[in-house]
Amino acid sequence: MSTIVVLVGPPGSGKGTQAKVLCERYGLAHLSTGDMLRAAKAAGTLEPEYRKLMDEGGLLPDAAVIGLIERRTKDADCGSGFLLDGFPRTVPQAEALEAMLALRGLVLSAVVQLDVARGLLEERLIHRRTDKRSGQIYHLLYNPPPPELLKDPGSLEHRKDDQPEAVNTRLDAYDSMTAALLPYYEERGLLRRIDGVGKPEEVTGRVVASLDTVK
Ligand code: AMP
Repeated sequence: MSTIVVLVGPPGSGKGTQAKVLCERYGLAHLSTGDMLRAAKAAGTLEPEYRKLMDEGGLLPDAAVIGLIERRTKDADCGSGFLLDGFPRTVPQAEALEAMLALRGLVLSAVVQLDVARGLLEERLIHRRTDKRSGQIYHLLYNPPPPELLKDPGSLEHRKDDQPEAVNTRLDAYDSMTAALLPYYEERGLLRRIDGVGKPEEVTGRVVASLDTVK
């Protein structure tokens, strides 16, 4: 039986970190529609109107991302299961996923939602800094960069979308996206709400404990 997991979490919830660890642990392919679309954009194979939508931060039409997932999940590395990250984002996408899986005799194992209070997300994102050279992520208060990086402000990046105004826009977008999606999965008994506050390995422990009950 394939394990098929949807991972949902707001910006700053540690979703990327958890996706990586969970895929390694369960041998799942990591399918991020955002990554796939960015790769298509970089390769110049994304339709110009979709490129524009992405640049403006809008959602692509459901049919476009559904087609992407339909094709990608046929790849050999998805045979023992996959973790969906950034998809579905709308109820029609969730319905299409369910129908697609049913045609293949598959069902969704669980939808894992990383739950972090909004105030904490704002605080995490606004204080996030990345070492431009190594890509290492720091938090100015809780996991401060080493003194040599702090002394050289040019060495640390404060992402444009981590500025306070952009952070609020992104968190609002997440709230409106999940407003319909989470109840959809809750009604189907698939939703696992996981406390996303704590050390990354503590959060992984909670997710694993929850997923082990559905395996
Ligand atoms: P992400 O990295 O998941 O935030 O995705 C980056 C961008 O890709 C989004 O802002 C959308 O423009 C597009 N995108 C990714 N996944 C989807 C989806 N499931 N439905 C519609 N658009 C998407």
